[in-house]
Amino acid sequence: MTENTPKFGSPYGFETRQIHAGTQPDPVTGARQTPIYQNTAFVFEDADHAASLFNLQTFGFVYSRLSNPTVAALEERLASLENARGSTCCSSGHAAQLMALFALMQPGDHVIASTRLYGGSITQLSKSFGRFGWSARFLDFDDLGSVREAINGNTRGLFCESLANPGGVISDLEPLAEIARAAKIPLIVDNTMATPVLCRPVDWGADLVTHSTTKFLSGNGTSMGGALIDSGNMDWMDAERFPSLAAPEPAYHGLTFAESFGDLGFTTHAHAVSLRDLGTSMAPLNAWLTLLGTETLSLRMERHCANAQRVAEFLEGHEAVSWVSYAGLPSSPYHQLAEKYLPKGAGSVFTFGVKGGYQAGVTLVERCEIISHLANIGDTRTLILHPASTTHRQLTEEQREAAGAGPDVIRLSVGLETADDIIADLDQALTSVQRQAAE
Ligand SMILES: *Cc1c(COP(=O)(O)O)cnc(C)c1O
Repeated sequence: MTENTPKFGSPYGFETRQIHAGTQPDPVTGARQTPIYQNTAFVFEDADHAASLFNLQTFGFVYSRLSNPTVAALEERLASLENARGSTCCSSGHAAQLMALFALMQPGDHVIASTRLYGGSITQLSKSFGRFGWSARFLDFDDLGSVREAINGNTRGLFCESLANPGGVISDLEPLAEIARAAKIPLIVDNTMATPVLCRPVDWGADLVTHSTTKFLSGNGTSMGGALIDSGNMDWMDAERFPSLAAPEPAYHGLTFAESFGDLGFTTHAHAVSLRDLGTSMAPLNAWLTLLGTETLSLRMERHCANAQRVAEFLEGHEAVSWVSYAGLPSSPYHQLAEKYLPKGAGSVFTFGVKGGYQAGVTLVERCEIISHLANIGDTRTLILHPASTTHRQLTEEQREAAGAGPDVIRLSVGLETADDIIADLDQALTSVQRQAAE
């Protein structure tokens, strides 16, 4: 977090900001690329300077659990790319979700979350967060009326993914933001799968945006990381609802984050309280690798989407495939929402069904050659996963069906290889599945 986050209406285009926002030549050495400040603590100028930093009267670096120059450069860049006011980077996407709710929730409070969240997020919200006295009510966010009706005095936010991992589901952000605004609660959008290249939730009215920077933002499968981004548009001054932000903070001489820091109140709280006490800091090297990833983000996303579109069309026409769920295909029920919210492409992660069920799924992932069988998305490499035999294997068959991880479901994260090679690899693996079924 720094004071000079580019404001709305930045004169520079997205591609310029993905390279320049948050960084400048190193003033000491002239180094053009951002240094990795692999450093824990920062020298105070004198005792007064130290005191004003600890009182939050001056922005600056104290200790890398709270902020670090390399991490701050990434924070400023991501805020700019999301057309937001401030951002806080942290150790993982799950840490970003923890920090988002930590600022909003007290024991007994709940969020209303989409049933289509990434499976790991459903587990985090429904199991571990319950131990803090927080709860989550899962609803189908296509049914806007039921979301509106479920809000009550203890609801502290609506939480969904712009483009959901993995099923090609798109949230109708504009009316969801209206529902949240009318209830004076934030709309929180996980924008991991879309990235700010394809969708900027703040432009549609979202208040907070979370990211797993582990995926497309870093882009090469090298670095765990997360980001919690604040639009700066939410009025947090409601001490009943949001005491962490709107009530005096005893640890900082009774200052009130939302009042003292205005549209940077949420982000200041995220650093000064959440990172301080949860300790979920991003490592400087991971911030640096993610900065490097963002420099080519728009180019990569364009190719990810083009390759995914070709692969999805190929699979839809393949006789060993029973269905394909990709919002870029006209057959998808989310195709119209994709045209509205993701006009540059529907991302590169989607699911399809392989004929022959569980055994066919296992054979398919084993027979792929250039495509890697692993549990990640958003790499330059094409990745494949059979959820029923891996990420969802602890669940019962009924639970797997409900989670969209039935025996025939395959998840693909289409990478940046030559599209014909990805298609050829899938084709030979699918042929081998068919051959096995015929034996
Ligand atoms: C991976 C992922 C997360 C969790 O992020 P981590 O960096 O693995 O903690 C959250 N949301 C979505 C959509 C994801 O794909």
